[in-house]
Amino acid sequence: MKNISILGSTGSIGTQTLQVVRDNDDLRVTALAAGSNIEKLQEQIEEFHPSLVCVYDEKKANELKLKVAHLPVKVVAGMDGLIACATQQEAEIVLGAIVGMIGIVPTIEAIKAGKDIALANKETLVCAGHIIMPLAKEYGVQILPVDSEHSAIFQALHGESKREIRKILLTASGGPFRGKTREELANVQVEDALKHPNWAMGRKITIDSSTMVNKGLEVMEAKWLFDATFDQIQVVIQPQSIIHSMVEFLDGAVLAQLGVPDMRLPIQYAIYYPERRNLPGDRLDFWKLSGITFEQPDMVNFPGLALAYEAGRCGGTMPTVFNAANEVAVARFLNREIGYLDITECIKEAMKAHKNVADPTVAQILEAEKEAEEIARGFRAV
Ligand code: NDP
Repeated sequence: MKNISILGSTGSIGTQTLQVVRDNDDLRVTALAAGSNIEKLQEQIEEFHPSLVCVYDEKKANELKLKVAHLPVKVVAGMDGLIACATQQEAEIVLGAIVGMIGIVPTIEAIKAGKDIALANKETLVCAGHIIMPLAKEYGVQILPVDSEHSAIFQALHGESKREIRKILLTASGGPFRGKTREELANVQVEDALKHPNWAMGRKITIDSSTMVNKGLEVMEAKWLFDATFDQIQVVIQPQSIIHSMVEFLDGAVLAQLGVPDMRLPIQYAIYYPERRNLPGDRLDFWKLSGITFEQPDMVNFPGLALAYEAGRCGGTMPTVFNAANEVAVARFLNREIGYLDITECIKEAMKAHKNVADPTVAQILEAEKEAEEIARGFRAV
């Protein structure tokens, strides 16, 4: 039996993780955490019987306490509650699927408690990779990627040495607006941006995929996970989302991982690594595949990717500023306060205003986050 604590259990990754738990009888959920969705949490408690549950929102946590008073589960709240779930004694692995930078501190505490981390929450590595990766090494725990591209790279690297990597080829679908010009993008509405061609995901990451900001965050995530330089990470558009990423080695060999787009595969691989298990679902049928095509990313009409490389190369607190400004800008776009193209303009403005801090502490990261959020909240479309 493997005990798992799931942070962000009510979200897209969280619920797919619970599907993996349903399909495997040797996984036991010991803790769950979410922001405020207590209806879904209650259903999850009734089905999976965790002993500890955190609702970040304290008022909602108190409501949930009353609803599940008859069950043997402790309900906690706030950051202390998240940390309690991340460090719970019975948990052997913590699946980090909270959205946003709120995931940084619980991840750090989970590492210090000796837990292996299956990490979907990319913001944690983007903003605090310089803290997370050495800490994981110090405590002898594994950081297992859940993001499909990084899982693909991780799978391609199985049995290989990171030192022999020449290039990481990070694939991207290009999103729903691939091939569009700035003029065409200016009129994009929330509903259009929420339609991803191949993946069903949470709202924020779906918008990020359409702006290529998600790919930018993934470039920074890859840098930390695979100890690569930004020059070694090349984004390749592969619109069918069949190749989930590739690695080119020193001898010119390219290893790729292919499959139907299904997040349960990288989730399950991270949980059971290095073992592979049966996964019910569709399989690739190469007789029926019409083709796999490749393109260069368009960094002019989609400046989010270029800005991410710039933020990543600056390092320090700049990736945090990139990420935090984007989080606010996306929320404002979803709220119809700013236009689609304003999202990357807003990131640009926040990065321009920021005085970078090298090798930041968690406190400095959170300070940079606040500063960038303020700029993004004050951003006025031109
Ligand atoms: P969702 O928006 O679907 O879910 C987010 C989860 O985080 C929910 O459970 C939410 O709870 C929880 N949450 C939000 N704020 C807090 C908080 N303050 N405290 C505790 N829990 C909180 O996001 P996704 O599942 O799409 O994405 C999660 C992470 O995984 C992101 O970092 C994303 O970039 C990454 N990722 C996602 C992929 C996907 O296919 N969806 C693919 C690869 C990476 P509540 O429901 O109560 O708000």
